[in-house]
Amino acid sequence: MRDVDLAITGGEILTMTDAGTVPQGTVLISGQRIVALGSDAELGPYQARQTLDARDQVIMPGFSNCHTHIGSNVLLRGLNEDAQLFEWLQYMWQLKENFDHETLRLASLAGLAEMALAGITSFNEHFDAYAVTPEIKALGTIPLRATLGYGFADVGLYASVGPWSYEALDNFALIVDEHHNGMNGRLRVALSPHATYSCTEHLWRRCAEVAGEHGLTIHTHLSEGEQEHRFVAEHQGSTPTEWLHHMGLLAPNLTAAHCTTLTDGDIALMAEHQVKVAHCPISNAKLCSGIMPVRKLREAGVTVGLATDGPASHNTLDMFQEMKFGAITHKNHHLDPELLTVNEMLAMATRDAALAMHLPECGTLAVGQLADVIVVDLNKLHCAPRYDAAAALVYSSRADDVVHTVVDGQVVVENGRLRNIDLFSLLGELRERAGALRQRSGV
Ligand SMILES: [Zn+2]
Repeated sequence: MRDVDLAITGGEILTMTDAGTVPQGTVLISGQRIVALGSDAELGPYQARQTLDARDQVIMPGFSNCHTHIGSNVLLRGLNEDAQLFEWLQYMWQLKENFDHETLRLASLAGLAEMALAGITSFNEHFDAYAVTPEIKALGTIPLRATLGYGFADVGLYASVGPWSYEALDNFALIVDEHHNGMNGRLRVALSPHATYSCTEHLWRRCAEVAGEHGLTIHTHLSEGEQEHRFVAEHQGSTPTEWLHHMGLLAPNLTAAHCTTLTDGDIALMAEHQVKVAHCPISNAKLCSGIMPVRKLREAGVTVGLATDGPASHNTLDMFQEMKFGAITHKNHHLDPELLTVNEMLAMATRDAALAMHLPECGTLAVGQLADVIVVDLNKLHCAPRYDAAAALVYSSRADDVVHTVVDGQVVVENGRLRNIDLFSLLGELRERAGALRQRSGV
């Protein structure tokens, strides 16, 4: 008889691979990997140290949130609505300058808790220029899979973080030694130059150099609306994508978030250099950054994953909302209801999002893949009568329909409850500290 650590039993399995769906089956996990999956007849006898019952529910890969900012943005949620992008960034900066470590740790915990409960098992954090260690501490409490992009900038609004940026880049070998592939491989570090309007050519080139030295990924904001295009045209005489290409930044290790304002030439460059795109439809719509040319990008062969962006611009860490809003927005924009099917939206939130954050071992359920798995309950009024799981998941399900969240083979959420944390006291403490932050920032 086969011995395994964890069995997720009796659910409809959406593998998100060519194997398709198993109408009723079980996923077996040992250590951090999936060791078997299929119908009970296919699996044969096994003994599991722990079992999660998924009868009548859906077993699927956890969501990969391939562009977000949790620590900082949780503290900015709902504080500066109805503003222009550049003005919005300026307002947020007033608070960011007053962040302290304990407040950031609590905000990170809250963001991790929100994602774990919503079935997000991995995330690509872009630190827009502030401390990383509070979030690393929080990841010790709520163990999601994380790529932490150290945030750099040296001009404009963010000029004051220039010296810190160069110092961190000069010492990046130490950061890599200390954290990269830490926490059983769940934690990765990356480089996050902020954007084309906040980093000089010197800083971009330095990031490319350091990424090359250590084999790291780069995660940035790119082509997020007309303001950025005008700025780069004026200062560099090119589009933001052309400017990155000119500096040698376009490469398979680059994740570019937003990309709403791309020319056909930009799209060809991104496809040629296998740049990955993180698509944040709600944030783009809310900040009026434009509509990403999703059809052209996908037709050109560019990997496009879905992402929530930070809770300051979304305002939740909820990939169900992102799938629904993304599909509807593009259908309506192209007047084409056949664009972006429910299965394509699910893939963009799982498999493609994992690829967009350079995690090919996540985002699908198959033997040998990392065990980042969620169970979603579709026995809800808002999903009834449940003819088709994919349709229910994309258009009807909500974050709180997630029952179990497993990351790296560990059960992080069981029966809708987080392990290791008292949510009530976390919310109280966070509210108090966020209030003090707002007061000392004078906003
Ligand atoms: Zn962002």
